[in-house]
Amino acid sequence: MKIDFNELNLKTLLDNSIVGVVIHDWDTSIVYANPRAMDLLEMSYDHLIGKTSYDPQWHFVDEQHRRLMVYEYPVNRVRKTNTTMVNEVFGKVNEQTGDVRWFLVNAYVERQPNLPDGKGFIVVSFNDITDRQNLFSYEHILEHAGDVVIVTEADPIEAPFGPKIVYVNKAFEKLTGYSRDEVIGETPRILQGQLTDIEACRRISRALHEKTNIRETLLNYSKTGKPYWLDMSIMPLFGRNGQVTHFAAIEHDVTESVFNAQQLERRNAELRQIKDSLNKLVQEKTRQLREANMKLEQLAYYDALTGVPNRRSFTDQLQKMFGFCVRNSYPLLVGIFDIDDFKYVNDTHGHGVGDEVLVQLARAVDDQFRIEDVFGRIGGEEFAFASIVKERKAADILCARVLSNARSCQVELADGQHVSITISLGACFVVPSNGIDTDKVMQVADRDLYEAKRSGKNRFVISQC
Ligand code: GH3
Ligand code: MG
Ligand code: MG
Repeated sequence: MKIDFNELNLKTLLDNSIVGVVIHDWDTSIVYANPRAMDLLEMSYDHLIGKTSYDPQWHFVDEQHRRLMVYEYPVNRVRKTNTTMVNEVFGKVNEQTGDVRWFLVNAYVERQPNLPDGKGFIVVSFNDITDRQNLFSYEHILEHAGDVVIVTEADPIEAPFGPKIVYVNKAFEKLTGYSRDEVIGETPRILQGQLTDIEACRRISRALHEKTNIRETLLNYSKTGKPYWLDMSIMPLFGRNGQVTHFAAIEHDVTESVFNAQQLERRNAELRQIKDSLNKLVQEKTRQLREANMKLEQLAYYDALTGVPNRRSFTDQLQKMFGFCVRNSYPLLVGIFDIDDFKYVNDTHGHGVGDEVLVQLARAVDDQFRIEDVFGRIGGEEFAFASIVKERKAADILCARVLSNARSCQVELADGQHVSITISLGACFVVPSNGIDTDKVMQVADRDLYEAKRSGKNRFVISQC
């Protein structure tokens, strides 16, 4: 049997369809709704017939839950653009419960040849896809995500009006202390404060202008002024026509890790400081050690009271000088002198004065020698010297000068009186050769000193050997 569509009862077909069908007149008033449509829209036939799209009772939303303007309703879109609508998703909000029923909508204009300008009936058919739509809801995910989500309008961007916040999730409310109602219509700048990095804000602003993605770590402040660090990713959201309509920011609270990083940096700074202090300490200790070594050397080679070389040092230097004279056949004068009646000085004026006498004497005599001469304190109040002299006569002159220097040094007493001394000196004038050694020379000088004492003190005796 060949089917004749003209004979088909379309009304019966529509009445039994599981697809909701509503037919609008050109002025958008509803002229027909099938039972499935009444069922899906939860309205009776009487309620539906005659209602236009301008009726305030309609409450449609798009997939982003944004309430649609009247001109965005399927019937008006098709009517205005004269195009067919295929499989678009719309939600109808139940004003009482707030529940949304989701429809997959198709619509077209059924032209009426008797009407001018392509006018006709507008046929809207729809399926209930609420189950499919609610299988999982992006909004639910956003709403309950652990990270903060903020959506702003894309225009205007500039302060003070833009970018306006249109959505924040629960995590936002929890972190910032602001309720959703308080921040909708505000800009995210209300979260910034004194220590928010201005440079980072500029980079964000630039990215918004250029409509590109950006990631920054930024310091924000809660409603009570508590600072927190956010790792934020901001991305542009695109509308149906590819234009940027919104920006979404997904923000992760990184206060703890920033704090930990700061702590780590502080700890490192402390360690650096400790290292610096240790280096300084090592330098200081090295310096002290060097000083101590110098002091030890001083103690080992110099007489602590007078500061001139001690016996050991004098003997060493004399040996070297002697060798030099042997090699060069230079005549050498080696002398020993001893303070006359020093016991008397100590007994009369005290040991302290005696010490001062020794210091003054050592200084006065030392001053008269050249750098290449040798001079030292070889006993309690005994000093010795060695000097290269050209001839015997020069030896006499040198010894006379030592005596004279000793006589001229004076120590002042508390009562203003002065103590002065004399010395006796024995010396050996020698042209060193391999047959003679320093011990022998010192013995001769010592014997001459004894001779000087014996013959009346305050004089010198020189032997030649
Ligand atoms: P003489 O003229 O024979 O040398 O007589 P003298 O009194 O100097 O006798 P002697 O050389 O025997 O005595 C040396 C004295 O020098 C004994 C000691 O108390 C003193 N004397 C030795 N070393 C020091 C010292 O470092 N400081 C002081 N104040 N006295 C010292
Ligand atoms: Mg003596
Ligand atoms: Mg003496």
